Amino acid sequence: MENLTPMMKQYLEIKNNNKGSILFFRLGDFYEMFFDDAIETSKLLEITLTGKACGNGEKAPMCGVPYHSAKSYIQKLINFGKKVAICEQVEDPKDAKGIVKRDVVKIITPGTVLDDDMIEGSSNNYIMAIITDEDIVYMTYADITTGEVNNITTTYQEVSNIFFSVMPSEIIMDDIFLKKMKENSFKNSKIINNFLIENNVVQNTANYENIEEFISDNNLADKIPSLIQIYKYVYDTQKFFDINFFYEKNQVKYMSLDYYTIKNLELIESIRKNNSYTLFWVLNKANTSMGSRLLKQYLLKPLNDENEIRQRLNKVSSFVEHYSVSTGVSHILREVYDLERISNRIVYDTVSHRDLLNLKKSLKAVNEIKNIFKGENDSRFEELYEVLSKNDLMPIINLIEKSIEEIGEDFKKEHIIKSSYDEKLAYYRDLLENTSNILIKMERDEREKTGIKNLKISYNKVFGYYIEITKAALQNFNMPSDYERRQTLVSSERFINNNLKKIEEEMLSAKQGESQLESSLYKEVKEELKNFIPKIMQVAEMISQIDVYTALAKTAIENDYVKPMISTDGNIVIKNGRHPVIEKLLPNEEYVPNDTDLTSSETHIITGPNMAGKSTYMRQVAIIMLMAHIGSYVPASFAQIPIIDSIYTRIGASDDLSMGQSTFMVEMTEVSNILKNATQNSLIILDEIGRGTSTYDGMSLAFSIVEYICEHIKAKTLVSTHYHELTALESKYKNIKNYCMLVDDSKEIKFLRKIVLGKADKSYGIHVAQLADLPYEVLERANIILSKLETSEKKSSKKYNQKSEQDQVSIENFSKDNNLRIVQKIKDLNIDEYTPRQAMDLLYKIKSELR
Ligand code: ADP
Ligand code: MG
Repeated sequence: MENLTPMMKQYLEIKNNNKGSILFFRLGDFYEMFFDDAIETSKLLEITLTGKACGNGEKAPMCGVPYHSAKSYIQKLINFGKKVAICEQVEDPKDAKGIVKRDVVKIITPGTVLDDDMIEGSSNNYIMAIITDEDIVYMTYADITTGEVNNITTTYQEVSNIFFSVMPSEIIMDDIFLKKMKENSFKNSKIINNFLIENNVVQNTANYENIEEFISDNNLADKIPSLIQIYKYVYDTQKFFDINFFYEKNQVKYMSLDYYTIKNLELIESIRKNNSYTLFWVLNKANTSMGSRLLKQYLLKPLNDENEIRQRLNKVSSFVEHYSVSTGVSHILREVYDLERISNRIVYDTVSHRDLLNLKKSLKAVNEIKNIFKGENDSRFEELYEVLSKNDLMPIINLIEKSIEEIGEDFKKEHIIKSSYDEKLAYYRDLLENTSNILIKMERDEREKTGIKNLKISYNKVFGYYIEITKAALQNFNMPSDYERRQTLVSSERFINNNLKKIEEEMLSAKQGESQLESSLYKEVKEELKNFIPKIMQVAEMISQIDVYTALAKTAIENDYVKPMISTDGNIVIKNGRHPVIEKLLPNEEYVPNDTDLTSSETHIITGPNMAGKSTYMRQVAIIMLMAHIGSYVPASFAQIPIIDSIYTRIGASDDLSMGQSTFMVEMTEVSNILKNATQNSLIILDEIGRGTSTYDGMSLAFSIVEYICEHIKAKTLVSTHYHELTALESKYKNIKNYCMLVDDSKEIKFLRKIVLGKADKSYGIHVAQLADLPYEVLERANIILSKLETSEKKSSKKYNQKSEQDQVSIENFSKDNNLRIVQKIKDLNIDEYTPRQAMDLLYKIKSELR
């Protein structure tokens, strides 16, 4: 350290206190980075790496970005999952003794970016904290651009579902949680860990430094530890904290969706990330960013309380039934800006002149919307009118109206505060305007007096006001006695006289007075607006809801959806159901609607060739169920749906473009989650289960999984499979029904995309191969092999039936005896005689005997 330059010493000291961030060190017009920061940043930003002498004979690696374009570089680093600490000069160089004081004024991180250019309007940007206490897990997630905070006290079991309904861009964890996650010791912990890595989610450890002080300073003693961590983090990064800006969202009861369901149903992101064909894409007709954000939240947290679902459905139906009200309202909603984020900028003192005008415009629009509701004779609108009327917006509108100047079309720098807002301000401005008139008059007078026609009166910053006379004109110039020389230029002389001196003084003090007064008045207005923030936030919340209702009404009308009825018998009845996304992607009316009649605790086994429409049909049922649970109309001509507690989906391994782990292992892990967590009130979708392993393994598993669901869980279940053998289960279980996709193979194979009762008798694989134009010899040979295989399978299945009857008897015998005898029996088994399927069955039986 000794020989380092003072600047380097200062740098290292500050860097030492900000180890987790890339330090942007302000030097003149640049932010510079040094050492490892420089090496890393130069790579990420593709900027030149240079060096700077440190004073000890060595050179520090260095790179830099210009101050004025820093934003785009910071944004890039944030997208790479980095944190950036902004270090500025914090004293006027004039006052500095020695080196100018510098300090970190703010840390920009993915979960705490406030800058509107760096975040997407239609998405929330969440930071999440997870703090544990033995088996209790405290989870808080917040969007600091909107002030929304959610607190949940839960268990390890629930963490992953909550995590994936939020998908934070930054996370704070305590050591114990981090350790458990790395050890993969709770449900889906590995999936969370992978998500964090793949999405560059910044991970922080909980910070307990000075926490007691922070808690007592801000009266946080009654808050849960994860919330305190979020607050602390906001304070540490923003160097500022205002608890009044955060509002806790009411936790409604919602359906928990696991990661795979969110992914497989393509709710907000498509599986192939390069297209945007998602349910959100179809439904998002919102007119404000606030509405889009709320709709996304609805999709990830479908309700599961009957009352709340009914209420939402009724709100949406009021807008469907009075569609002119809906279009009227959505038209006005276009005038509403992002009130949540403007409020946030008021809090953090980054609000702009234009923001304030947009705030006024938005609130005026809200009043207009209120008036539309007032005129309607429907109690549902009256209710909305009442809620909106709770907050009188006129004081806010009036304050901005009377204080803030409009911005002209020409973008010329104009006043921010209206002259009419303050007498003194008006006085200064009059004076300034008058003086410029006086100057014009004075110039005229001086020209006359001196006879010099090109005499000019002007102003510059260094010398102030002056009278300028060209050298040529000076030749026969009789200088008035009160002229004083100010400055000599090559081609002219500049003078000042008493009169001008007096004007100059007045002018300068008026100018200074005006700008000081304007900025203090502007500050006052902004401070006053802070008092209105809770009010604005409440209105924002209502407006986002109204925006979602009108959006859902619009989609319902435009796409011909129907209002779902809620059934109490647990049965799903859908007539002419459609897949809301796929139907949009097919040319006019090509989508073939299908009926569903899935009785409570029933399982449907759906067979049919590849491309027949099985996956689409099953997803369609799940999506219709989900849409009903967010309060939306559904793509069908009739729908009666029961309230369910969750939707589980599993798509067979080879359909999965997964994360490069053993896909079969992933598939089984998920199935295991489903079997452990699904209830009788869940909907389960199993698409081509057991596909990721060898035929017999896969088939055996498929059998046993379906049996388990039918016997133990009794959830409403749709299973698609290419193992026709599975259809045999229909005769064994009352609650299993076989369905298949109609195929017309009278000439060429043709998919009719209609689902009907019954089972597919063949898989048509060879037909499909024929469609794909495989060489004739290959197809013919395949047909021969197939028929051989089919005859031998029939024989072996006879054998298998006899054998399993023998097993049945023997198991019954030894089940009466003690466990030791079971062990003996296992020892005696001749394993080679068993097919994997039989072995599985046997194991299953033995296990249940042991229980
Ligand atoms: P499977 O799962 O049986 O292999 P998919 O469900 O993947 O078949 O469907 C294959 C394709 O068939 C889909 O991509 C879609 O274009 C089309 N399709 C599916 N269902 C329908 C339908 N009901 N109406 C029209 N086209 C459909
Ligand atoms: Mg499929």
